[in-house]
Amino acid sequence: MKEFQLIRQIQQETSVSSSADSRHGVKLGIGDDAAVLEVPAGQHLVAATDTLNAGTHFPEDTSAYDIAYKCLAVNLSDLAAMGATPRWALLSLSLPGAEQEWVQAFIAGFKSLAQEHGVALVGGDTTSGPLSVSLTALGLIKPGAQLMRSGARPGDLLVVSGSIGGAARVLDLLKGREPVSDRRLLDRPQPRVRLGQALVGFASACIDISDGLLADLGHVLRASGCGALIHLQKLPHDELLAGLGDRQKWDYQLSGGDDYELLFTLPRRHEEMIQSWRRETETRLSVIGEIEDGEGVRCTGPDGLAYDPQYTGFEHFGRQP
Ligand code: ADP
Ligand code: MG
Repeated sequence: MKEFQLIRQIQQETSVSSSADSRHGVKLGIGDDAAVLEVPAGQHLVAATDTLNAGTHFPEDTSAYDIAYKCLAVNLSDLAAMGATPRWALLSLSLPGAEQEWVQAFIAGFKSLAQEHGVALVGGDTTSGPLSVSLTALGLIKPGAQLMRSGARPGDLLVVSGSIGGAARVLDLLKGREPVSDRRLLDRPQPRVRLGQALVGFASACIDISDGLLADLGHVLRASGCGALIHLQKLPHDELLAGLGDRQKWDYQLSGGDDYELLFTLPRRHEEMIQSWRRETETRLSVIGEIEDGEGVRCTGPDGLAYDPQYTGFEHFGRQP
């Protein structure tokens, strides 16, 4: 397939074409030199971008469907962590080839999540090269309502959505060529968009966990100028980790990346909101600790003893754990 054919296929099969789409606020979509988007009065634009490279951000054998799904999911997760409402996406593809079947599956994966969240694809770029997918997600928020990393205060509760450590466990099993019953924890992260929106006005700080709980909590603590205490037995885990010993399980939960769950801090006066968010968003929410004075993270086990985690998370250009 040639470049322009591929773009045509993307244009035809994603819901928004070059013509205007008032429902999505698209004045001009795919097909011209740039898209024109209408930001409603009284709203601010929120922008995030993330690249997924084959072999680094997803295993080489990941399906086209899942690559597209994950690329959109990780970007929607960034918007969710700000409390924003996703609206538009721009997609840059670097592809070694452009087989019809691969492109078809890629579009299907993209569409399934885009439709769920009302995201219109409004442009992008297509080149040939090593497999790499880059996406820019654009969303809306009321002025000043964004959730940031800098607002945590001593005494706030530390809360995490979903379960953590599962994606890293799947990756290790795949690397060790061990059987994995279900890869979805790694391949299809669920962006917590509704939860992020619900947290606006309540959470004092928020981040999505992409590089591991300790690494990402570290960003919140540095931005907020505080420390934190984590109760290890309260960390939520998936069934995949159930059979492991405590230390191995904690290391996955503290340092494993790729879960794309939200980690937020909540002033105690809003504690009763947690129950209603669980109901409204059908999301598991666990209070795993609290913010305290000082700096850094302290972890305590069920016996109340301090635990020093082995790794702190994934960093590009850093040493691999
Ligand atoms: P230009 O050379 O002006 O940048 P392109 O030929 O790269 O234009 O793209 C033509 C149109 O197709 C543009 O509207 C662009 O946004 C869109 N487009 C290109 N690649 C993609 C893609 N992978 N996904 C969505 N839209 C794309
Ligand atoms: Mg141009």
